[in-house]
Amino acid sequence: MTDEEYMGRALELAREALDHGEVPVGCVIVWADGRIVGEGRNRREEDGNALGHAELAAIRMACETLGGWRLHRARLYVTLEPCPMCAGAIVNARIPAVYYGAREEKMGACGSILNLFEEGFGHRPRLYRGLRGEECAALLADFFNKLRREKEE
Ligand SMILES: [Zn+2]
Repeated sequence: MTDEEYMGRALELAREALDHGEVPVGCVIVWADGRIVGEGRNRREEDGNALGHAELAAIRMACETLGGWRLHRARLYVTLEPCPMCAGAIVNARIPAVYYGAREEKMGACGSILNLFEEGFGHRPRLYRGLRGEECAALLADFFNKLRREKEE
């Protein structure tokens, strides 16, 4: 599968989050052999938990699938720029490459507010921005427009 196709799977997961009334964010983790070893989507509202981010769910699943915490041969694809919590988890898991779609102007820790991957921690993931970025951003815009309309009604 191509990078675009892996992001396509992350977009499917984001749409699943949207169907559950969540901010649409999806994430997949791919091992060096091309296998998807972890998947996650936003569940913050359903779980009533601030830790319910897509990336944390995908990292948890990948560690379980692989039987270890070192994801040093994995790539992570996420529809939205990771927040500081998730960027920190990515560093801790030693993930070497991160692809994200849309920018997150208020919480983004991969270039928007700061870039956690360039702060001199012991591990520095390579960063690829804007993969299928317009589709990822459009999905988020749909969600927030709908929310606004519902508030106005
Ligand atoms: Zn996050």
